[in-house]
Amino acid sequence: MNQIVDPFNRKITYLRVSVTDHCNYRCHYCRDEDHQTHTKKAQVLTFEEIARIVRLFAELGVTKVRLTGGEPLLRKDILDLTRMLGGIPGLSDIPLSTNAHLLPAMALKLKNHGINRANISIDSLIPERFKEITRDGDLETVINGIDAAISVGMKPIKLNMVVMKGTNDDEIESMIEFAINRGLDLRFIETMPIGLAGIEAVDRHLSEKDILERVYSAYGDRLISQDSKQTDGPAKALKIEGTNTSIGTISAVSNNFCSSCNRVRLTAKGELILCLGQKDSVSLRDAIRSGMKDQEVKQLILNAITKKPEKHFFDSVVDNISNRQMVEMGG
Ligand code: SAM
Repeated sequence: MNQIVDPFNRKITYLRVSVTDHCNYRCHYCRDEDHQTHTKKAQVLTFEEIARIVRLFAELGVTKVRLTGGEPLLRKDILDLTRMLGGIPGLSDIPLSTNAHLLPAMALKLKNHGINRANISIDSLIPERFKEITRDGDLETVINGIDAAISVGMKPIKLNMVVMKGTNDDEIESMIEFAINRGLDLRFIETMPIGLAGIEAVDRHLSEKDILERVYSAYGDRLISQDSKQTDGPAKALKIEGTNTSIGTISAVSNNFCSSCNRVRLTAKGELILCLGQKDSVSLRDAIRSGMKDQEVKQLILNAITKKPEKHFFDSVVDNISNRQMVEMGG
């Protein structure tokens, strides 16, 4: 029993761990305008509980654990968690997803505590627009955070830009230039209809095809396809010749990549979510707090995986995901 295989023969090797559902930004496609986080400390997994669950997943063959949120850097003493996870045998990769707001102060400590690479969300390079999309975020601080991550040697750093028609799609080219100038990778993300905020963003959805047309018209003769093994995820990537930058798209709506899904998600409250676009979940927090032994928790995980759905239905916007906010699930 040292690997997790779901009913569709997909091997699960990747766990995304949301360490908090609080966020200092309120991106309008991620959470509803009036969404408040009322989660109490007692509802949230402790670091010991997270580390225990991650260890059990590692014993079941998971090798990569991403720390996400909410905003993971808001979780008090997060460095204690990264140290604990760093000691778990079998884990080869512990990347971070962040909005970079707190990176200016934390990048060095994170690097010294085993965080070698990061995905950083940035949807605009125009301060006023950035403020509007994030509902009060500060672009300058985020760029300082990106530069801090570069200067402490995190590598690779991937920028994630959610591209929205009429909101920021005129910045595709300038974001590529920004990434090239700093030697970073860049992923363009299609809006996903998750939660009311995500469903509202469907109106501004820009398809992978439209995004790539823009990329090709600007850089066509310099783009070189990378094979999927090099992209480490659902993104399809293109290297820009003469630069250190690769461009990719994460197109969950236009291009269902569920057949190669290798991941499950753990929320801050300890729910194991089997698919971003479906309701199914199991509370690992309640299981461990009821006194279950390691072997029993592992069996619960394996039983849960038998319910992992074949695919999401983002293209038909089914109602069963409208009551979830992406901010609670970690992206
Ligand atoms: N706070 C961290 C950050 O900013 O990266 C981690 C959490 S955030 C929920 C993770 C990713 O989900 C971000 O890149 C964000 O842009 C993306 N995201 C949130 N809502 C989305 C939606 N409706 N469609 C597509 N991507 C979304």
